[in-house]
Order: sequence, then structure tokens, then C-alpha cells
Amino acid sequence: MEYYGSQITKLIEQLSSLPGIGGKTAQRLAFHIVNMPVEQVRQLSEALVSAREHICYCKECCTLTDQELCPICSNPARDKKTIMVVETSRDLAAYEKTGKYEGVYHVLQGAISPLLGIGPGDIRLKELMQRLQGDVNEVIIATNSSLEGETTAMYLSKLIKPTGIKVSRIASGVPVGGDLEYIDEMTLLRALEGRVEL
Ligand code: ZN
Repeated sequence: MEYYGSQITKLIEQLSSLPGIGGKTAQRLAFHIVNMPVEQVRQLSEALVSAREHICYCKECCTLTDQELCPICSNPARDKKTIMVVETSRDLAAYEKTGKYEGVYHVLQGAISPLLGIGPGDIRLKELMQRLQGDVNEVIIATNSSLEGETTAMYLSKLIKPTGIKVSRIASGVPVGGDLEYIDEMTLLRALEGRVEL
């Protein structure tokens, strides 16, 4: 890629370090960017830096947000007694898109994976157990149906059951290993409505 000059090569390298962006896409984006008005490029780069600098975890549900409490936790209309446990903020977004879930969430920021050496202490489990000391009716486990997601679901149900709080698992039908983000809204709704008590 020497023939592009070092500035463009550097830009292509940076872009291709992002997930899902291969060499060709990185080149296409780089050439698009260098043809954009400078002001627009500045806005893009400022949005990147600003998002990174202001992002934090909601102190209630651990999702990524830019405030102490995320918009869902600070919404008085949401049912705080129903907590849906998901792996990532992207999973939360997928369920929010259905527009039908009125409870709140807890984002684990990962899943238990003995293979990768990720144990219960490495995800936001402690924070969830703390929340369960409050007034909670039901915990809906909506981790992925991957091996890690199922391991996490099993671990969670064992942990929560002794508290007497109802624990349910979203119905299968969510493709095995499927990222919740890529599943259509109808499938997610059916999985949620068809949840079974553990
Ligand atoms: Zn929150």
C-alpha cells in the first residue's frame, strides 16, 4: 500500500483495525473520508473522541451510557421489578427495538467462559446480586444460546433461586450461537413471551 502515501496508508491501517472492516472496506472508507469536506471530517473525529471520553457504565444496570443512570433506569414508567439479564449493551438495544418490553435490564458485559478463562468474577454478577436485594419479582435470563450464554444462564439460576425470586429463561428459537443483535424483532418477542420458569 506504499503507493498511497503514508497519510492515507496510516488511515487505512487505523480503519482496518476495527471489527468487521477488512482491507478493501478500509480503503473505500479512507478514500471516502479524504474526499469529505474538512469540517465534516472534524465532526466525525470529534464524535469519536467525545463518545470514548464520556462513556461510562450505568450505576444501576451496567449498560454503556454517558450519564450516571441510563435513560431506561431513569425512566419512571419502566417496571423496576422485572430485570432482564443480557450479555451486552447491543443485546439490550435489540430488545429495546421490539418496543414491547417494559421492565429494566442488567448488562453482564460478557458471559462465563471457562475456555477463555472468564469466570463469574469477571462479569457484572456482583452488581446484579446487589440489585436483587431490593424489590424484584422476576429475573429473565436472556443470555445468548451459545455455550457461554447457557453456562452463564445455568450459573445465574442456581445463584438466584435460593432468594425466592422467580427466574425464567427466554425460549429457545433464538438460533444457537446467534448474536441477539442480528435476530429479528419478532423472533426476540416470541422468545421473550415464551420464556419458561427455571
Ligand atoms: Zn441503566
